[in-house]
Amino acid sequence: MKTATASKKVQLPDIAAQVTYAMRTMGVAPIPRNYELFYEAYIGSNPKLTKDLAALGNKATQEELDAIGQQYFNTNRPHALDGAHSKIVSELEGLLGVLKQEQNSLESYNKLLGDTVSRISDKNSASVEILRNAIGVLSEATGDTMAQGEKAVESVVKKSVEMEKVRQELDEYKRIANTDSLTRLSNRRAFDEKLAAIYNRQTNRSVTALVIGDIDHFKKINDTFGHPVGDKILATVANIIRANVRRDVFVARTGGEEFAIVIEGNSDVEAMQIAERIRKALAATPFKNSKTGVDYGPVTMSLGICMASEADEPNELYSKSDIALYCAKNDGRNQVRMFEDGMKKESNKTWMLYRR
Ligand code: GH3
Ligand code: MG
Ligand code: MG
Repeated sequence: MKTATASKKVQLPDIAAQVTYAMRTMGVAPIPRNYELFYEAYIGSNPKLTKDLAALGNKATQEELDAIGQQYFNTNRPHALDGAHSKIVSELEGLLGVLKQEQNSLESYNKLLGDTVSRISDKNSASVEILRNAIGVLSEATGDTMAQGEKAVESVVKKSVEMEKVRQELDEYKRIANTDSLTRLSNRRAFDEKLAAIYNRQTNRSVTALVIGDIDHFKKINDTFGHPVGDKILATVANIIRANVRRDVFVARTGGEEFAIVIEGNSDVEAMQIAERIRKALAATPFKNSKTGVDYGPVTMSLGICMASEADEPNELYSKSDIALYCAKNDGRNQVRMFEDGMKKESNKTWMLYRR
Protein backbone atom coordinates (compact mmCIF):
# COMPACT_ATOMS: atom_id res chain seq x y z
CA MET A 1 0.00 0.00 0.00
CA LYS A 2 1.34 3.40 -1.00
CA THR A 3 1.45 5.93 1.77
CA ALA A 4 2.49 9.51 2.21
CA THR A 5 4.36 10.48 5.33
CA ALA A 6 2.79 13.25 7.33
CA SER A 7 6.06 15.14 7.42
CA LYS A 8 5.99 15.67 3.68
CA LYS A 9 3.62 18.22 2.25
CA VAL A 10 0.49 16.12 1.99
CA GLN A 11 -1.73 16.54 -1.06
CA LEU A 12 -5.03 16.24 0.76
CA PRO A 13 -7.48 15.88 -2.14
CA ASP A 14 -5.25 13.11 -3.54
CA ILE A 15 -5.38 11.27 -0.25
CA ALA A 16 -9.17 11.45 -0.11
CA ALA A 17 -9.31 10.09 -3.67
CA GLN A 18 -6.74 7.37 -2.95
CA VAL A 19 -8.59 6.29 0.17
CA THR A 20 -11.90 6.07 -1.67
CA TYR A 21 -10.29 4.22 -4.59
CA ALA A 22 -8.46 1.74 -2.35
CA MET A 23 -11.61 1.01 -0.37
CA ARG A 24 -13.63 0.48 -3.52
CA THR A 25 -11.09 -1.86 -5.12
CA MET A 26 -10.74 -3.81 -1.89
CA GLY A 27 -14.52 -4.13 -1.65
CA VAL A 28 -14.53 -2.39 1.73
CA ALA A 29 -17.89 -0.99 2.89
CA PRO A 30 -17.91 2.83 2.69
CA ILE A 31 -18.79 3.33 6.32
CA PRO A 32 -17.21 6.03 8.51
CA ARG A 33 -14.99 3.79 10.59
CA ASN A 34 -13.53 2.21 7.46
CA TYR A 35 -12.88 5.63 5.94
CA GLU A 36 -11.20 6.60 9.18
CA LEU A 37 -9.02 3.50 9.18
CA PHE A 38 -7.94 3.90 5.56
CA TYR A 39 -7.41 7.62 5.94
CA GLU A 40 -5.13 7.01 8.90
CA ALA A 41 -3.26 4.33 6.93
CA TYR A 42 -2.80 6.62 3.95
CA ILE A 43 -1.42 9.57 5.80
CA GLY A 44 1.04 7.11 7.32
CA SER A 45 0.74 8.40 10.88
CA ASN A 46 1.27 4.87 12.15
CA PRO A 47 3.36 2.64 9.88
CA LYS A 48 2.30 -0.50 11.75
CA LEU A 49 -1.37 0.22 11.14
CA THR A 50 -0.60 0.75 7.44
CA LYS A 51 1.30 -2.55 7.35
CA ASP A 52 -1.44 -4.49 9.15
CA LEU A 53 -4.06 -3.11 6.82
CA ALA A 54 -2.01 -3.92 3.73
CA ALA A 55 -1.50 -7.47 5.04
CA LEU A 56 -5.25 -8.09 4.84
CA GLY A 57 -4.95 -7.95 1.04
CA ASN A 58 -8.02 -7.72 -1.13
CA LYS A 59 -10.27 -9.96 0.94
CA ALA A 60 -10.55 -8.01 4.15
CA THR A 61 -13.67 -8.83 6.12
CA GLN A 62 -15.39 -6.18 8.22
CA GLU A 63 -14.40 -8.15 11.33
CA GLU A 64 -10.72 -8.00 10.38
CA LEU A 65 -10.96 -4.29 9.66
CA ASP A 66 -12.74 -3.68 12.96
CA ALA A 67 -10.07 -5.69 14.80
CA ILE A 68 -7.43 -3.31 13.44
CA GLY A 69 -9.60 -0.32 14.28
CA GLN A 70 -10.05 -1.56 17.83
CA GLN A 71 -6.36 -2.19 18.22
CA TYR A 72 -5.17 1.20 17.03
CA PHE A 73 -8.00 3.56 17.79
CA ASN A 74 -9.11 2.57 21.24
CA THR A 75 -5.85 2.85 23.09
CA ASN A 76 -3.93 6.07 23.00
CA ARG A 77 -4.40 6.17 19.28
CA PRO A 78 -1.73 7.56 17.06
CA HIS A 79 -3.02 10.71 15.55
CA ALA A 80 -2.83 12.25 12.14
CA LEU A 81 -1.49 15.28 13.92
CA ASP A 82 1.59 13.51 15.22
CA GLY A 83 3.44 14.34 12.02
CA ALA A 84 2.62 18.00 12.40
CA HIS A 85 3.56 17.76 16.05
CA SER A 86 7.10 16.58 15.40
CA LYS A 87 7.45 19.16 12.66
CA ILE A 88 6.56 21.95 15.04
CA VAL A 89 8.84 20.63 17.75
CA SER A 90 11.72 20.59 15.28
CA GLU A 91 10.84 24.10 14.06
CA LEU A 92 10.81 25.32 17.63
CA GLU A 93 14.11 23.70 18.38
CA GLY A 94 15.62 25.28 15.28
CA LEU A 95 14.33 28.65 16.37
CA LEU A 96 15.66 28.10 19.84
CA GLY A 97 19.09 27.38 18.35
CA VAL A 98 19.09 30.63 16.41
CA LEU A 99 18.05 32.61 19.41
CA LYS A 100 20.58 31.03 21.72
CA GLN A 101 23.27 32.83 19.74
CA GLU A 102 21.67 36.07 20.83
CA GLN A 103 21.61 34.95 24.44
CA ASN A 104 21.99 38.27 26.19
CA SER A 105 19.39 40.38 24.51
CA LEU A 106 16.94 37.56 24.14
CA GLU A 107 17.16 35.84 27.48
CA SER A 108 13.51 36.07 28.43
CA TYR A 109 12.37 35.12 24.96
CA ASN A 110 14.61 32.10 25.13
CA LYS A 111 13.08 30.99 28.37
CA LEU A 112 9.63 31.36 26.96
CA LEU A 113 10.54 29.26 23.96
CA GLY A 114 12.28 26.69 26.12
CA ASP A 115 9.16 26.30 28.22
CA THR A 116 7.00 26.04 25.15
CA VAL A 117 9.18 23.41 23.53
CA SER A 118 9.31 21.26 26.64
CA ARG A 119 5.58 21.59 27.08
CA ILE A 120 4.80 20.30 23.62
CA SER A 121 7.71 17.87 23.44
CA ASP A 122 5.75 15.60 25.73
CA LYS A 123 3.96 13.51 23.12
CA ASN A 124 1.29 12.30 25.49
CA SER A 125 0.02 15.77 26.14
CA ALA A 126 0.19 16.74 22.49
CA SER A 127 -3.09 18.16 21.45
CA VAL A 128 -4.06 20.53 18.75
CA GLU A 129 -4.95 23.18 21.30
CA ILE A 130 -1.55 23.03 22.98
CA LEU A 131 0.21 23.18 19.65
CA ARG A 132 -1.87 26.08 18.46
CA ASN A 133 -1.41 27.97 21.71
CA ALA A 134 2.31 27.35 21.53
CA ILE A 135 2.44 28.85 18.07
CA GLY A 136 0.34 31.79 19.25
CA VAL A 137 2.77 32.43 22.11
CA LEU A 138 5.65 32.21 19.70
CA SER A 139 4.14 34.60 17.21
CA GLU A 140 3.62 37.18 19.94
CA ALA A 141 7.08 36.71 21.33
CA THR A 142 8.50 36.93 17.84
CA GLY A 143 6.85 40.32 17.44
CA ASP A 144 8.50 41.60 20.65
CA THR A 145 11.84 40.27 19.58
CA MET A 146 11.79 42.00 16.24
CA ALA A 147 12.99 45.16 17.88
CA GLN A 148 16.12 43.46 19.20
CA GLY A 149 19.24 42.19 17.46
CA GLU A 150 19.51 42.71 13.70
CA LYS A 151 20.90 39.29 13.04
CA ALA A 152 18.23 37.46 14.96
CA VAL A 153 15.46 39.35 13.24
CA GLU A 154 16.22 37.90 9.85
CA SER A 155 16.24 34.32 11.12
CA VAL A 156 13.18 34.82 13.27
CA VAL A 157 11.19 36.27 10.39
CA LYS A 158 12.17 33.33 8.22
CA LYS A 159 11.22 30.89 10.94
CA SER A 160 7.93 32.69 11.57
CA VAL A 161 6.94 32.24 7.95
CA GLU A 162 7.68 28.52 8.23
CA MET A 163 5.68 28.35 11.45
CA GLU A 164 2.74 30.03 9.78
CA LYS A 165 2.84 27.37 7.09
CA VAL A 166 2.86 24.67 9.74
CA ARG A 167 -0.05 26.35 11.47
CA GLN A 168 -2.06 26.31 8.24
CA GLU A 169 -1.20 22.67 7.67
CA LEU A 170 -2.25 21.89 11.20
CA ASP A 171 -5.62 23.59 10.67
CA GLU A 172 -6.12 21.59 7.47
CA TYR A 173 -5.14 18.34 9.22
CA LYS A 174 -7.58 19.09 11.96
CA ARG A 175 -10.38 19.85 9.52
CA ILE A 176 -9.82 16.63 7.56
CA ALA A 177 -9.39 14.51 10.68
CA ASN A 178 -12.69 15.81 12.05
CA THR A 179 -14.78 15.54 8.88
CA ASP A 180 -16.95 12.67 7.70
CA SER A 181 -15.99 12.24 4.06
CA LEU A 182 -19.39 11.01 2.91
CA THR A 183 -21.57 13.80 4.29
CA ARG A 184 -18.96 16.55 4.97
CA LEU A 185 -20.42 16.82 8.47
CA SER A 186 -18.28 16.49 11.58
CA ASN A 187 -17.34 12.91 12.35
CA ARG A 188 -17.41 10.76 15.48
CA ARG A 189 -14.05 12.04 16.67
CA ALA A 190 -15.19 15.66 16.47
CA PHE A 191 -18.44 14.69 18.18
CA ASP A 192 -16.57 13.08 21.10
CA GLU A 193 -14.56 16.27 21.52
CA LYS A 194 -17.66 18.44 21.32
CA LEU A 195 -19.44 16.35 23.94
CA ALA A 196 -16.45 16.46 26.27
CA ALA A 197 -16.25 20.24 25.85
CA ILE A 198 -19.81 20.64 27.14
CA TYR A 199 -18.67 19.31 30.49
CA ASN A 200 -15.07 20.58 30.49
CA ARG A 201 -15.96 24.20 30.01
CA GLN A 202 -18.28 26.65 31.67
CA THR A 203 -21.42 26.20 29.58
CA ASN A 204 -25.03 26.83 30.41
CA ARG A 205 -26.19 23.24 30.27
CA SER A 206 -29.84 24.05 30.75
CA VAL A 207 -29.80 25.58 27.25
CA THR A 208 -27.58 22.92 25.67
CA ALA A 209 -29.27 19.98 24.01
CA LEU A 210 -27.94 16.80 22.47
CA VAL A 211 -30.18 15.49 19.71
CA ILE A 212 -29.52 12.06 18.21
CA GLY A 213 -31.31 11.13 15.02
CA ASP A 214 -31.36 7.70 13.41
CA ILE A 215 -32.85 7.02 9.97
CA ASP A 216 -35.81 4.67 10.08
CA HIS A 217 -35.51 1.28 8.38
CA PHE A 218 -32.36 2.30 6.59
CA LYS A 219 -31.26 -1.29 6.18
CA LYS A 220 -34.32 -1.86 4.02
CA ILE A 221 -33.38 1.09 1.80
CA ASN A 222 -29.87 -0.36 1.38
CA ASP A 223 -31.17 -3.86 0.75
CA THR A 224 -33.75 -2.72 -1.78
CA PHE A 225 -31.80 -0.12 -3.75
CA GLY A 226 -28.17 -0.87 -2.93
CA HIS A 227 -25.43 0.73 -0.86
CA PRO A 228 -24.58 3.56 -3.31
CA VAL A 229 -28.19 4.78 -3.16
CA GLY A 230 -28.01 4.50 0.64
CA ASP A 231 -24.89 6.67 0.58
CA LYS A 232 -26.59 9.33 -1.55
CA ILE A 233 -29.53 9.36 0.83
CA LEU A 234 -27.18 9.80 3.79
CA ALA A 235 -25.62 12.82 2.09
CA THR A 236 -29.06 14.31 1.37
CA VAL A 237 -30.20 13.74 4.95
CA ALA A 238 -27.05 15.54 6.14
CA ASN A 239 -27.91 18.51 3.89
CA ILE A 240 -31.46 18.61 5.18
CA ILE A 241 -30.28 18.67 8.79
CA ARG A 242 -27.79 21.45 8.00
CA ALA A 243 -30.42 23.48 6.16
CA ASN A 244 -32.73 23.37 9.17
CA VAL A 245 -30.37 24.56 11.90
CA ARG A 246 -28.41 27.76 12.44
CA ARG A 247 -24.96 27.86 10.88
CA ASP A 248 -23.22 27.64 14.25
CA VAL A 249 -25.03 24.48 15.31
CA PHE A 250 -22.75 21.44 15.57
CA VAL A 251 -23.91 18.56 13.35
CA ALA A 252 -22.10 15.23 13.06
CA ARG A 253 -22.56 11.82 11.53
CA THR A 254 -21.63 9.68 14.48
CA GLY A 255 -21.84 6.32 12.73
CA GLY A 256 -23.82 4.48 10.04
CA GLU A 257 -27.09 6.30 9.66
CA GLU A 258 -26.95 8.10 12.98
CA PHE A 259 -26.57 11.86 13.33
CA ALA A 260 -25.92 14.06 16.35
CA ILE A 261 -26.83 17.71 16.74
CA VAL A 262 -25.65 19.89 19.61
CA ILE A 263 -27.93 22.88 20.03
CA GLU A 264 -26.61 25.64 22.26
CA GLY A 265 -28.52 28.63 23.56
CA ASN A 266 -32.01 27.16 23.22
CA SER A 267 -34.45 25.91 25.83
CA ASP A 268 -35.77 22.35 25.84
CA VAL A 269 -38.99 23.52 24.16
CA GLU A 270 -36.99 25.24 21.41
CA ALA A 271 -34.72 22.22 20.98
CA MET A 272 -37.82 20.08 20.50
CA GLN A 273 -39.08 22.51 17.86
CA ILE A 274 -35.77 22.40 15.99
CA ALA A 275 -35.71 18.59 16.04
CA GLU A 276 -39.33 18.52 14.93
CA ARG A 277 -38.50 20.91 12.07
CA ILE A 278 -35.74 18.55 10.89
CA ARG A 279 -38.00 15.53 11.16
CA LYS A 280 -40.78 17.19 9.16
CA ALA A 281 -38.41 18.54 6.50
CA LEU A 282 -36.96 15.09 5.92
CA ALA A 283 -40.34 13.36 5.81
CA ALA A 284 -41.53 15.94 3.28
CA THR A 285 -38.50 15.56 0.99
CA PRO A 286 -39.10 13.46 -2.13
CA PHE A 287 -36.39 10.89 -2.80
CA LYS A 288 -37.02 10.15 -6.44
CA ASN A 289 -34.47 9.25 -9.08
CA SER A 290 -35.06 11.89 -11.75
CA LYS A 291 -33.75 9.66 -14.56
CA THR A 292 -35.39 6.32 -13.75
CA GLY A 293 -38.39 7.61 -11.83
CA VAL A 294 -37.69 5.10 -9.04
CA ASP A 295 -38.99 6.36 -5.71
CA TYR A 296 -36.66 5.60 -2.79
CA GLY A 297 -38.81 7.37 -0.26
CA PRO A 298 -40.26 8.18 2.04
CA VAL A 299 -37.17 8.56 4.22
CA THR A 300 -37.88 9.34 7.85
CA MET A 301 -35.90 9.75 11.03
CA SER A 302 -36.52 9.21 14.73
CA LEU A 303 -34.90 11.67 17.12
CA GLY A 304 -34.11 11.62 20.84
CA ILE A 305 -33.16 14.69 22.86
CA CYS A 306 -31.64 15.24 26.25
CA MET A 307 -30.66 18.57 27.82
CA ALA A 308 -27.06 18.62 29.06
CA SER A 309 -28.29 19.68 32.51
CA GLU A 310 -29.95 16.24 32.82
CA ALA A 311 -26.56 14.52 32.85
CA ASP A 312 -23.31 14.90 34.76
CA GLU A 313 -20.95 13.77 32.05
CA PRO A 314 -20.79 13.13 28.27
CA ASN A 315 -21.56 9.39 28.34
CA GLU A 316 -24.61 9.91 30.49
CA LEU A 317 -25.87 12.65 28.16
CA TYR A 318 -25.35 10.45 25.11
CA SER A 319 -26.99 7.52 26.78
CA LYS A 320 -30.05 9.56 27.83
CA SER A 321 -30.51 11.03 24.34
CA ASP A 322 -30.21 7.47 23.08
CA ILE A 323 -32.91 6.27 25.47
CA ALA A 324 -35.20 9.02 24.18
CA LEU A 325 -34.34 7.96 20.62
CA TYR A 326 -35.15 4.37 21.48
CA CYS A 327 -38.56 5.46 22.75
CA ALA A 328 -39.18 7.38 19.51
CA LYS A 329 -38.34 4.17 17.58
CA ASN A 330 -40.42 2.02 19.84
CA ASP A 331 -43.42 4.33 19.64
CA GLY A 332 -43.59 3.90 15.86
CA ARG A 333 -40.60 5.88 14.44
CA ASN A 334 -40.68 9.20 12.52
CA GLN A 335 -41.03 11.15 15.77
CA VAL A 336 -39.12 13.17 18.35
CA ARG A 337 -38.85 12.34 22.05
CA MET A 338 -37.37 14.36 24.90
CA PHE A 339 -35.67 12.32 27.63
CA GLU A 340 -37.66 11.92 30.82
CA ASP A 341 -36.82 10.05 34.00
CA GLY A 342 -38.50 6.68 33.89
CA MET A 343 -37.91 6.12 30.17
CA LYS A 344 -36.48 2.67 29.68
CA LYS A 345 -34.44 1.06 26.96
CA GLU A 346 -34.07 -2.62 26.31
CA SER A 347 -30.68 -3.20 24.79
CA ASN A 348 -31.45 -6.24 22.66
CA LYS A 349 -33.63 -4.53 20.10
CA THR A 350 -32.54 -5.09 16.55
CA TRP A 351 -32.33 -1.43 15.63
CA MET A 352 -29.32 -1.16 17.91
CA LEU A 353 -27.35 -3.97 16.34
CA TYR A 354 -25.18 -1.77 14.17
CA ARG A 355 -24.37 0.80 16.75
CA ARG A 356 -20.77 1.23 17.84
P1 GH3 B 1 -34.28 1.34 12.57
O1 GH3 B 1 -35.48 2.05 12.05
O2 GH3 B 1 -34.61 0.46 13.72
O3 GH3 B 1 -33.15 2.27 12.86
O4 GH3 B 1 -33.82 0.36 11.41
P2 GH3 B 1 -32.53 0.45 10.50
O5 GH3 B 1 -32.71 -0.53 9.40
O6 GH3 B 1 -32.28 1.84 10.10
O7 GH3 B 1 -31.39 0.12 11.50
P3 GH3 B 1 -30.21 -0.87 11.46
O8 GH3 B 1 -29.31 -0.39 12.54
O9 GH3 B 1 -30.74 -2.27 11.53
O10 GH3 B 1 -29.51 -0.68 10.07
C1 GH3 B 1 -28.68 0.36 9.77
C2 GH3 B 1 -28.11 0.08 8.44
O11 GH3 B 1 -27.30 1.17 8.00
C3 GH3 B 1 -27.17 -1.09 8.41
C4 GH3 B 1 -26.08 -0.75 7.44
O12 GH3 B 1 -26.16 -1.55 6.31
C5 GH3 B 1 -26.41 0.66 7.04
N1 GH3 B 1 -25.25 1.54 6.99
C6 GH3 B 1 -24.41 1.86 7.97
N2 GH3 B 1 -23.47 2.73 7.52
C7 GH3 B 1 -23.71 2.94 6.22
C8 GH3 B 1 -23.10 3.73 5.19
O13 GH3 B 1 -22.11 4.44 5.40
N3 GH3 B 1 -23.65 3.68 3.95
C9 GH3 B 1 -24.75 2.94 3.68
N4 GH3 B 1 -25.25 2.95 2.44
N5 GH3 B 1 -25.35 2.17 4.62
C10 GH3 B 1 -24.83 2.18 5.86
MG1 MG C 1 -31.80 3.22 11.63
MG1 MG D 1 -28.76 2.92 13.49
